[in-house]
Amino acid sequence: MKEDKRWEKVYSFEDSPYLMEVLTELRDKETDSIAFRKGLVKLGRYMGYEIIKTMDVEKVKIETPLEETEGIIVKDRKNVVIVTVLRAAVPLMEGLVKVFEHARIGIVSASRGKAPKFEIEMNYVKIPQITPEDTVIVADPMIATGSTLVTVMEEIKKYGTPKRLIVLGVLAAPEGINRIKEQFPEAEIFVTQIDRELNSKGYILPGLGDAGDRAFGAPIKIPTLPQVHTID
Ligand code: URA
Repeated sequence: MKEDKRWEKVYSFEDSPYLMEVLTELRDKETDSIAFRKGLVKLGRYMGYEIIKTMDVEKVKIETPLEETEGIIVKDRKNVVIVTVLRAAVPLMEGLVKVFEHARIGIVSASRGKAPKFEIEMNYVKIPQITPEDTVIVADPMIATGSTLVTVMEEIKKYGTPKRLIVLGVLAAPEGINRIKEQFPEAEIFVTQIDRELNSKGYILPGLGDAGDRAFGAPIKIPTLPQVHTID
């Protein structure tokens, strides 16, 4: 894990051959949905493991079946709230909960409209109470324009002020990091790799494409269904 010199508290994992190999598979357009989802789970798990290295530890005395000895506990590992941004972050969350098994989970549906407006639609928000002891990890694989994350983080603020606010992604464009840092300078950003730029449609280059479609398949468009059903 290394801190990027362009910002404060922005970390990538270019120094991790394992994570870079997983990312290479995710970037490859020949990788199917099953392998793509598995890759996201792996990244969630191992990046979560790296986040644990940044948490304080406390010495404890315990008894083995044979004698007393010293061990440690990671102080904040149990005080974690994972906020999952639907839909591509679901496999990332699956990986994260393998190391943060006590985490309380928030689910937010937020999606970005088309260029040039990139309007954010947020129509499902379930977030638990956040306390000053908590580390909040907002999971969203693609930090592109950063607008979705800023909208989600504005929402999260209403539920309490955490000890640490972490954004966890797979890829980020510099534009997205700048946007988050402008509004949330205290946010720590952990991404597997920081890519070159955004294209005019808001996709990260070289990127990996649409993370949601690659993980779950492209949705089809059908005429809007009636929202209310009446029973005679
Ligand atoms: N969201 C994606 O899924 N991919 C991008 O490149 C940008 C945003």
